[in-house]
Amino acid sequence: MAAHRQSRPWSGGEVAAREVRPPQYDPQCYLCPGNTRISGRSNPAYTGTYVFDNDHPCVGPDAPAHLAAPPWPYRNAPATGIARVVCYSPRHDVTLAELDVEGVDALLATWQEQMRELSARPEVAYVLIFENKGEAVGVSNPHPHCQIYATNFVFKYIETEFRAGERHHHETGRVLFEDVIAAERQDGRRILSEQASAIAFVPYFARYAYEVYVAPTRVHATLASLDAPERRDLATVLRDTVIRFDNLWKMPFPYVMALHQAPVRDDARGFHFHIEFHPPLRRPNLLKYLAGPEIGGGNFLSDTSPEEKAAELQAAGGPHYLTETGPA
Ligand SMILES: [Zn+2]
Ligand SMILES: [Zn+2]
Repeated sequence: MAAHRQSRPWSGGEVAAREVRPPQYDPQCYLCPGNTRISGRSNPAYTGTYVFDNDHPCVGPDAPAHLAAPPWPYRNAPATGIARVVCYSPRHDVTLAELDVEGVDALLATWQEQMRELSARPEVAYVLIFENKGEAVGVSNPHPHCQIYATNFVFKYIETEFRAGERHHHETGRVLFEDVIAAERQDGRRILSEQASAIAFVPYFARYAYEVYVAPTRVHATLASLDAPERRDLATVLRDTVIRFDNLWKMPFPYVMALHQAPVRDDARGFHFHIEFHPPLRRPNLLKYLAGPEIGGGNFLSDTSPEEKAAELQAAGGPHYLTETGPA
């Protein structure tokens, strides 16, 4: 933490806030209902969530299975999997923050179905569900959607978290993330939202200024095992969190959202499913650049204090700022 550096002079790049609201339906959008995608396939006239196989998959079944062996000391292995897209709504112009609780709950139910289906496949070792939102993280299409990568390998952060959880469980007999939630509750300053079985907070160890974790309070290795009341609580807290993001500067708030679930085939003991938000902005038009300490040295340098940023988000509660002026 180096919060004292926050007001140093700045004359670098800025991110333009989106001023014009997009149309409810865009004939050029490959995600809108009824439109034809680049593959030639057409989207149905869907009314809720809609899932399809990515036309430009990062991992796909056609990847080369046999790779030429590289020279020592390099190693390689084929990366295979399934890549899918999940549209949150037929509406082109809304975001996750503008769905009602039923809409967010339906999205969580869709993720659960995907999780159950994909994790049952023998070749799948991990299911990564994530949303890149906003031009600041490279997404120019505002249509609300996320992606799913079901892969034959486990992603690096998950592996690290899994091992840390295992070690903690071995040393204390406790689940690490449960202890994290207990510590956040004991401090209380960084908690943003709570329901009977779900919580959202800026973690003590936040790397990004507005980093937020959203989680069920009971231990679940993955999203798939949440029952209906728990899913509803999680939907409520998740929605409340993204509304706070948008309300903060009265603009669609860019972020990378990732669901951290246990690896599919490992013994999941010690892993507690949670959702992480990594927003790239430090101020309305100011990106957090990854530079010397982060890229060059591998350590995150935060220019802000998590307590201060949590207080800003605590003051930015619902309703969504567009509720008054936007379409019903
Ligand atoms: Zn669209
Ligand atoms: Zn995590």
